[in-house]
Amino acid sequence: MRLPTRTREPIVASDPCCPQSLYGPALAMIPFDNTYARLPERFFTRQSPARVPAPALIRLNPALAATLRIDGDWLTSAEGEAMLAGNTTPDGAEPIAQAYAGHQFGGFVPQLGDGRAILIGEVVDPSGARYDLQLKGSGRTPFSRGGDGKAALGPVLREYVISEAMAALGVPTTRALAAVATGELVPRQEGPLAGGVFTRVAASHIRVGTFQYFLARNDIDGIRLLADHVIARHYPQASEMANPHLALLESVVAAQADLIAQWMSVGFIHGVMNTDNMAISGETIDYGPCAFMDVFHPRCVFSSIDRGARYAYGNQPDIGLWNLTRFAETLLPLLSDDVETAKGQAEAVLSGYPARFGVQATARFRAKLGLPAEAPAELIQECLDLLAAEEADFTLFFRQLTRVAAGEASETIATMCRSSEAFNTWFAAWRHAADPAAHLADMRAANPILIPRNHRVEHAIQRGYAGDFAPFHRLVEALAAPYAEQSDYADLEAPPRPEEVVQETFCGT
Ligand code: AMP
Ligand code: MG
Repeated sequence: MRLPTRTREPIVASDPCCPQSLYGPALAMIPFDNTYARLPERFFTRQSPARVPAPALIRLNPALAATLRIDGDWLTSAEGEAMLAGNTTPDGAEPIAQAYAGHQFGGFVPQLGDGRAILIGEVVDPSGARYDLQLKGSGRTPFSRGGDGKAALGPVLREYVISEAMAALGVPTTRALAAVATGELVPRQEGPLAGGVFTRVAASHIRVGTFQYFLARNDIDGIRLLADHVIARHYPQASEMANPHLALLESVVAAQADLIAQWMSVGFIHGVMNTDNMAISGETIDYGPCAFMDVFHPRCVFSSIDRGARYAYGNQPDIGLWNLTRFAETLLPLLSDDVETAKGQAEAVLSGYPARFGVQATARFRAKLGLPAEAPAELIQECLDLLAAEEADFTLFFRQLTRVAAGEASETIATMCRSSEAFNTWFAAWRHAADPAAHLADMRAANPILIPRNHRVEHAIQRGYAGDFAPFHRLVEALAAPYAEQSDYADLEAPPRPEEVVQETFCGT
């Protein structure tokens, strides 16, 4: 395959159409301010992205670009496109592949690392928040093991749609800055597929597995450097505490409890909650085989690789604690010189997780049901039991309940349950306990109208492989306002017809 002849020449300076004065200092198209690349060399390897034959921008997120103070017009230019595909490295970038380890489905792997992703640098937004810019699917790194370091277009489109939907739903998440097609084919099980590169923006890509990487090497200095980097970057208030590393653990436990409560409240199943896919920042990361449930069931699983249903919807809170326990283990050497003291401190923090999760999840489900504080919390579990027994669509049930709260008749919601007796019993209890008039705004803010339904995502991907990105763009645009009534997108509310149901999702590696 012929590669473009352009090498790493300056992006703008030599172009007479783009005088430097228009853009400020030469080449500084992205105001990089890198800190991870300042950590010791054993934290990463320096690795440039691979070149691709024919970059073509599929979608850019101009609002996110503006937040990051990156010129959106430049990103859509040929030079920006080349950068987003990994063909040029902008001034100030220091491309690295980060080292990490992780428990995958319960088994420890001492070295994973960025096998198909390259962190090109960090930028700081006007509020002072720092973000990583990462190219995903940009070629092999020393951590690629048997993989090719590439991404097929499907997983790129999938991550774009779902991560941006999560952001619009209000769930902490990594973001999508851009998706490009590379013009090359990548070999996958199902045959050669069109390739893509995804630009991911994250508060950081530091994972529980990053800490585990250093513990596995008994590199306590490494753990300390990483912990202090994380405190400065994500949890600066921890540095004011008597034991900053214990405060770090508290902060991460709280962030993850809150995050998983949010997942539960919107019916999100992460699908691959390995410790390398749990971000220390508290953002949702790694949109591999994730899915939003249609029909509710606590044992709902989509991931083709999750044979034991370890990461089923209802297991997510417990897995969160399991992963956080692995994180706590890495911090023990920093907590106290005395092992038993350190263990006691860590256990005390971890023991607060179930209550924190419970409070957060209950508050979110109370809002979904329009329940006042004094209403019995049992109604929540009874509702979920009803949905499971009646095989009702999770999102649509709460959508219809919100309509009932707004004064509509209950016929439509009643038809969502096969047993009218079961529905009537629960509904009467809800009518008795809920105060919909007072909590209608809460219900509207807690019950999305649109979620990225699997069959819609799948359709957008399949059309994308055929060169038609219209369904992908439409999905992204609709999901930007998931709580709003949008008559133009009413068709996207519907659950799948039986023949459209997606049974399995894939991590796309
Ligand atoms: P994930 O399932 O996405 O969390 O990835 C687990 C590990 O496999 C990470 O170390 C990835 O970098 C690596 N990996 C996944 N896909 C590829 C690929 N296509 N090429 C190289 N490494 C990969
Ligand atoms: Mg991962």
